[in-house]
Amino acid sequence: MDELTDAELTELHRVIQQSCQELEELLDSSKESSQPVALDEPIGRLSRVAAMQQQQMAVASRQAQHQRLQLLSNALQSIERDSYGICRICEEPIGYKRLLVRPETPFCLACQSRSEGER
Ligand SMILES: [Zn+2]
Repeated sequence: MDELTDAELTELHRVIQQSCQELEELLDSSKESSQPVALDEPIGRLSRVAAMQQQQMAVASRQAQHQRLQLLSNALQSIERDSYGICRICEEPIGYKRLLVRPETPFCLACQSRSEGER
């Protein structure tokens, strides 16, 4: 796998910043639906259960978005430190195509699938 060119790095930087912005907007707009369901609201038992399930799903997806945002900001930092695109485990270049799809990933495909296989 080749190391990133300046043009590729610039493009990935743009992609990461854009994803960060989208995630922040998403997190902002889903703030309300992840609030705990008010128990005194007169919505009936069944719809309360549905509302609580919906709220739990909103919380779970917000957690995943938070996590991704964290990884993306780590990626931005490693661009600044000139260490972006290098696998944290084997220290080989991750590859532009993989980074375009998952710009927040700190691992190459081989190390990623290895660690997922262990789980
Ligand atoms: Zn690796």
